[in-house]
Amino acid sequence: MSKSVKIASIYPTLLGTYGDGGNVAALKHIAGLHEIAVEILEISPGQTVPHNADIYVLGGGEDTAQSAAAAALHASGALAEGVKNGASVFAICAGYQILGHTFLDAEGKPSQGLGLLDVTTDRLEKRAVGEMIAIPSEFAPAALSQAFTGYENHGGHTHLGSDVRPLATVTHGIGNGDGTEGAINGRVIGTYFHGPCLVRNPLMAEQLLSWAVDRPLEHIVEAEVEALRYERFDFVSKN
Ligand code: GLN
Repeated sequence: MSKSVKIASIYPTLLGTYGDGGNVAALKHIAGLHEIAVEILEISPGQTVPHNADIYVLGGGEDTAQSAAAAALHASGALAEGVKNGASVFAICAGYQILGHTFLDAEGKPSQGLGLLDVTTDRLEKRAVGEMIAIPSEFAPAALSQAFTGYENHGGHTHLGSDVRPLATVTHGIGNGDGTEGAINGRVIGTYFHGPCLVRNPLMAEQLLSWAVDRPLEHIVEAEVEALRYERFDFVSKN
């Protein structure tokens, strides 16, 4: 069997609001369906972030936890090193904002991010809360052929610079705040789709695994699963 894929779950106690930890469980499950062995490294604050993971997963978080996570990751430098070595990063909401240059802390002051995505985040006029649907942009990997569905809950308005591309175009919801949703640069992906995003969007999980094993993966998503992806959205829009 080939070497196992190392998945680093970064500070799930700080960055794990709204079940984002489920993304790591989804990666593990989908890897199993593809007979890919995985090693899950759950990194708590204070622990060393590995430089040699294949996939780094960051969830969302409250403003204070987000600032603490950003400061620790900045001091560590491990994510930048991992990305240089070909790792992918999948980051949600607060995690996404941390990957950018700056975001606002609980007092509204700009905090330094990691600069792995050319984005900056300030505040939306009104907090974005609710179900969201977005169509993958032309810059998303071709294997991401289905609309993304999920929910968002954030005050951040994210502005994309010239060195980054939008992950998707919003058809329902707010996303970055300008009609686009998320950002992608190489194998670094940020999104406002909360967790477990990879449960509702398993093609994204397959894309991350495909990068890690360096080969295309066949889609395992069946038509019934595809229908289920919209069930929650339909429920919310009708109630
Ligand atoms: N604190 C950030 C915001 O409100 C991120 C929130 C989150 O991760 N849900 O924009």
